[in-house]
Amino acid sequence: MALNDVANDVPLSPLSFLHRTADISGDDIGVITDGGDRVSWSRLLDRAQRLAGRLSELGLEPGDRVAVLAPNDLPLLEAHYGVPGAGCALVALNTRLSPQEYELVLRLAGAKALIVDHSLAAQVADIATRVPTLRAVVAIGPDDEPDPDGYTDWLDTARPMPLRLPGDERQPLAVNFTSGTTGKPKGVVYTHRGGYLNALGQVASVGLNADSRYLWTLPMFHCNGWCYTWAVTAVGGQHVALRKVDPPRVLDLVRDHAITHMCGAPVVLDSLSEESRSRGGTEFAQSVLYAVGGAAPSPTAIAEMSRMGVEIVHLYGMTETYGPAMMCVPRPEWRQYELPRLAKTMARQGVRTLNVESVRVVTADFDDVPADGTTLGELVIRSNTVMSHYLDDPDATAAAFTGGWLHTGDVAVRHADGYVEIRDRLKDVIISGGENISSIEVENVLLEHAAVAEAAVVARPHGKWGEVPVAFVRSHDGHDVTETELVEWLRARLAHFKVPREVRFGSLPKTSTGKVRKAVLREAARSRPEG
Ligand code: ADP
Repeated sequence: MALNDVANDVPLSPLSFLHRTADISGDDIGVITDGGDRVSWSRLLDRAQRLAGRLSELGLEPGDRVAVLAPNDLPLLEAHYGVPGAGCALVALNTRLSPQEYELVLRLAGAKALIVDHSLAAQVADIATRVPTLRAVVAIGPDDEPDPDGYTDWLDTARPMPLRLPGDERQPLAVNFTSGTTGKPKGVVYTHRGGYLNALGQVASVGLNADSRYLWTLPMFHCNGWCYTWAVTAVGGQHVALRKVDPPRVLDLVRDHAITHMCGAPVVLDSLSEESRSRGGTEFAQSVLYAVGGAAPSPTAIAEMSRMGVEIVHLYGMTETYGPAMMCVPRPEWRQYELPRLAKTMARQGVRTLNVESVRVVTADFDDVPADGTTLGELVIRSNTVMSHYLDDPDATAAAFTGGWLHTGDVAVRHADGYVEIRDRLKDVIISGGENISSIEVENVLLEHAAVAEAAVVARPHGKWGEVPVAFVRSHDGHDVTETELVEWLRARLAHFKVPREVRFGSLPKTSTGKVRKAVLREAARSRPEG
C-alpha cells in the first residue's frame, strides 16, 4: 500500500463516529436507556467492544450475519457498533413478525448468531433447531433479574476487542429485510460506505449537533433507524431509548428530557397530535423537530403538529436507500403561506438530500417527465446511498437496477419548482377509463373531512371502466358520517371519475411497519359486485 493511500484514502465507516465521540466526549452521557440508566460514550464503546469480542470468539467470518431481535434500547443500539466491529453484518429484525416469518428471515439471512430480548423470546422459541446456521442464541433478560447465561453476563465477562474498521468500505455493514408484503422478503445489503454517507446526510437534513437529544420513536430495525443510530453518535448528541411508542409517555419524555428531534411514520405523528389535543394542546420549552416519512403524511397531520409548534420535516425513502433519500426542503417564500397551503406544499416528497447524486421521474422510455405537476412517471434514484444488492438474489438485484438506476416502484410527478410529489406506488395506481387516479390524492381529500381518521383507496375491477376506486375509512370515535356525506364531500372537490363508487367503514389492515395493506383491501373490494 502506498503511503498516500493511508494518509488520504481511509475506508469510510460509521464505526469511526463512535471512536471519535468517545475520544472527545467520553464522559458525556451518550445514551439514556428506557429504564433511565445513563450510559457514557466510553461505556457504549466498551460495551460494543465486548460484544465484538464475544462474536469473534464464536469464530464468525467477515460478512457473517448476526441478528438482533430487540426493542429500541441499549443492546440494539450497541449492536450497531459491536456487530460490524467484529466484521459482521447486523440484521436488526422487525419486532412484529410471526414465528414462521422469523424462521424464514433468519434462514434467508443465514444468521450465525441471534441476540433476543426477553419480551420477544417466545416468538423464536427453539429457533436454533430450525435454523441450522445458528451457532449461538443469547437472551437479554429483564434489567432486574441477573441471568448467568444471559446477555448482560455474556457481555460483562467478555474480553473487549477493538472495533475493526473494514479493510474495504464496501464491506457489508447491515442487512435489512423488506416487509415482503408482495412476495418473499428480500435482504437489502448496506455497506460501511453507504451507512457513513447516509448518516452524515441525516445530520445535515435535520440539523443534528452536540446539543441534540434524539428520542427513539422510530424503530431501530427500520433501515437501522434511518441511519440515526449512527448519525446521533456522529455529532455526540444524545440517544434517548424508547422500547414502545406510547403517546402520553412520548410527550412526557419530550418535556422531561428536552428532546429536540424525533422521527417516525405518519401514524405516530397522528397519535401524538391526538394525544396533544386531548391534553388541550402541548407547548414545549425547547424547539422540537419531527421528521416524518415512510408514507405520505396528510396535509391535515402536518398542519396539526405545526400548530403545536413542532417543526415538521418531511422525508422520503425506502429500505433500498438506507432510509431517507429525499426531503421536502422548505423554501423562504413558503414563510408567507397560510398554514393549509404550507402543509399541502410540505406533503410533497421534495428534492434529493445532499448525499444523493440524482433523482429523476421518468416515462417507460426513460425520458424525464415535464415539470407540469400532472404527468406521471416512475421515480428512479442514483446515489452512493443506494443498497449494494439484495442478499443472494442476483435476479431481483438486476431488476431493481435496470438501466443503471434504482427503480423505486413509486409513481410521481415533478412540479414547476422541481419538487417531486409521489402520487402512488406503481401497483396501487387506479386506472379508470384510461385515466390514472392517484389513490393518495383521493385519500387526502377524505382526510380533510373532520370525521375521517384514516382512509385508503384501492381499485376494484370494472367491466366498462377497467377499474373504479373504492374507499375504506376509519372514522374518529364519536364522529358519525355516512357514505353519502363522504361521496358528496369528494364530488365537491375532485373530478367525478376519481370519486369512489363505494365507501366502507372499519379499521384498516396494517403491515408490521404500520403501512396499510392495500392488497388485502383490493381483495375485500372485489367481494362486492361491480358498481
Ligand atoms: P416496503 O416497500 O416494504 O413498504 P419500505 O419501508 O422500504 O418498505 O417502503 C418504501 C416505500 O414507502 C417507498 O417506496 C414509498 O412507496 C413509501 N414511502 C416512503 N416514504 C414516503 C413518503 N414520504 N411519502 C410517500 N411514500 C413514502
